[in-house]
Amino acid sequence: MDWHTCTSQLMVHNGIQFQNGLSLPGFQLLYSTEEQCEAALGKARWPDGFRCPRCIGHEHGLVYGRRLRRYQCRNCGHQATLTAGTIMQATKLSLTTWFLVYYLIGQAKTRISSRELSPT
Ligand SMILES: [Zn+2]
Repeated sequence: MDWHTCTSQLMVHNGIQFQNGLSLPGFQLLYSTEEQCEAALGKARWPDGFRCPRCIGHEHGLVYGRRLRRYQCRNCGHQATLTAGTIMQATKLSLTTWFLVYYLIGQAKTRISSRELSPT
């Protein structure tokens, strides 16, 4: 897997997308706290609201853990986190750190593809 494919898959997998041309100050305004990043992740993962990965139920309660909120399904009791199944789950890095990484990867990709496209 080349670098392009690898980073694209990372972004697609998490569903995190930044608007085109988002500046760094703009980015910092939108994603400077864990809460903002969590909300963005939640939207990316469950655009229509919580969906239990086990029973597809909508009803859920929130369990507050040390780091991230957990979503507990009222139907089957399954607990889901926003980062489950992503690379973010395996690390102790904060969400804001991950978002910055994704943002910078996106910026680098944009720069690289415009360089590749321009005739030399
Ligand atoms: Zn469930």
